[in-house]
Amino acid sequence: MDVRIISHTPDPDRVCAIAAALTHSKKKPEEIERLDDETLMSILSRVIDLGHLSVVEHASFTFAISGVSRALTHQLVRHRIASYSQQSQRYVRIEDARYVIPPSIERNEGLRKDFEELMERIWREYNRLLEKGIPEEDARYVLPNAAKTNIIVTMNARSLLNFFELRCCMHAQWEIRELAWRMLGEVRKIAPIIFKKAGPPCKTKGFCPEKKEECPWYPKRDRT
Ligand SMILES: Cc1cc2nc3c(=O)[nH]c(=O)nc-3n(C[C@H](O)[C@H](O)[C@H](O)COP(=O)(O)OP(=O)(O)OC[C@H]3O[C@@H](n4cnc5c(N)ncnc54)[C@H](O)[C@@H]3O)c2cc1C
Repeated sequence: MDVRIISHTPDPDRVCAIAAALTHSKKKPEEIERLDDETLMSILSRVIDLGHLSVVEHASFTFAISGVSRALTHQLVRHRIASYSQQSQRYVRIEDARYVIPPSIERNEGLRKDFEELMERIWREYNRLLEKGIPEEDARYVLPNAAKTNIIVTMNARSLLNFFELRCCMHAQWEIRELAWRMLGEVRKIAPIIFKKAGPPCKTKGFCPEKKEECPWYPKRDRT
């Protein structure tokens, strides 16, 4: 999996801090823009803690994500407050087998071999259909959830906070969880205040909405 930020709102913490300060001030925007960083960042932190998250909608991030499975992107695109562009299986013919192997299968040599043989067989069948004149849009019906894909995603920071809360959780599926943690690592470098407390509720709020006591991250104070 490769995850990169290819574009973002310049100085996202500052832009959102100005928006946050403006909501509680008699000052004009140009006066607020002159406030020092320390004042602005403390206002932003306070407003985020209060849950007034509309101010962080002013910051957007565009990610280029490659080498992930269609199983992952099917889950990703359920996050509606975002924009997506995904490699098409109608316009792009992927003749060679490109797929993701889940770690649980990868570490079992026998199952891994069976899985790889099945993938090779699927792609042979896919190519056979194409050779017989079946269009890409129909031949792709035999391709698996494991098929690799590339996608570009743009989300604003509020939507990202929601995404991280749901998908950094140990209860989320392993591949989208890995993606979520990588995305969080990237945005934190650019907007450390907005994403200071981002992540699953067990780490950011100290409680587990899933009530999964067997989870290694289950908050200690919630244990009976
Ligand atoms: C562990 C896990 C398991 C899951 N299992 C399943 C499953 O078995 N089956 C399944 O179908 N999905 C499943 N999902 C997907 C889940 O139900 C959500 O569709 C997905 O996580 C997107 O979340 P969201 O709606 O908060 O995000 P977004 O679509 O980005 O929405 C963000 C927020 O905007 C608001 N919003 C957006 N659209 C509307 C609307 N139409 N009306 C009102 N408010 C809106 C809501 O407050 C929402 O939280 C699972 C998700 C997780 C994390």
